Amino acid sequence: MLKGKTALVTGSTSGIGLDMAEALAREGANIMLNGLGDATEIEATRAGLEKRTGVKVSFMGANLMKADACADLVAATQKEFGTLDILINNAGMQFVSPIEEFPVEKWDAIMALNLSAPFHTIRAALPAMKDAGWGRIINTGSAHSLVASPFKSAYVAAKHGLAGLTKTVALEAAEHGITCNTICPGYVSTELVDAQIADTAKARGMTEKEVIQKVILEAQPTREFVTVEQISGLAVFLCSDAAASMTGVILPIDGGWTAH
Ligand code: NAD
Repeated sequence: MLKGKTALVTGSTSGIGLDMAEALAREGANIMLNGLGDATEIEATRAGLEKRTGVKVSFMGANLMKADACADLVAATQKEFGTLDILINNAGMQFVSPIEEFPVEKWDAIMALNLSAPFHTIRAALPAMKDAGWGRIINTGSAHSLVASPFKSAYVAAKHGLAGLTKTVALEAAEHGITCNTICPGYVSTELVDAQIADTAKARGMTEKEVIQKVILEAQPTREFVTVEQISGLAVFLCSDAAASMTGVILPIDGGWTAH
């Protein structure tokens, strides 16, 4: 379905982003991977993905907390593949702490990565998408784009901000064949969540088992983690022609969490 298209997926060296990259590659899109991590492991991931899917897969390890790095990543993708048709803003980080003790530098870092980086990449990618008359922008939000939880002030604020950015871009791009949507997962079992379980246990004075049962299972009526494959399936659908009229949508995929 996506043969000849190019997709840039930020934060795709692990977790949700890596699976979205794999799913888009299986549909025929060439892929620019991005993220931080061990160079040898990332090269093995890149080469494996290329071998399994037969598309071209490249990697650029831009640190997206810097505005210039975001614009450079978009320019490098366009230069290497000749086009950037699908932009997935997925890189993100979390920090859990009561607001009175929330480290200011953590607030700044979360705002930079979870909210400002999508602004910078969209800003850089949109002109060529407009010229081409086709584009798909998908942001990875969170159930926390729609509702809050205590001790996550920066994350909740940034993810709510991402919802506002999504709607604004959707309006600006609507007449150019470009859609912009945000996927809002509930809890997915990835490194990001595993780290949160330990931090939440500390912030709430609970054991890790209690956090899984009383915090995570409490929030998600299905009592099951969302899977990366379910999220990737939604991303592929949003890239399809069937989703051409879906834009500016903040889409929960959260086991019923935000139905409360
Ligand atoms: P993850 O930690 O497995 O992946 C995060 C990715 O972002 C990695 O590839 C990492 O290298 C990259 N990254 C981190 N800092 C970066 C930086 N400064 N510059 C460039 N890349 C950077 O986490 P995940 O759970 O797959 O999270 C992906 C997205 O999904 C995030 O935006 C997160 O907020 C969102 N999300 C996750 C969950 C969940 O339960 N896991 C739920 C809702 C939303």
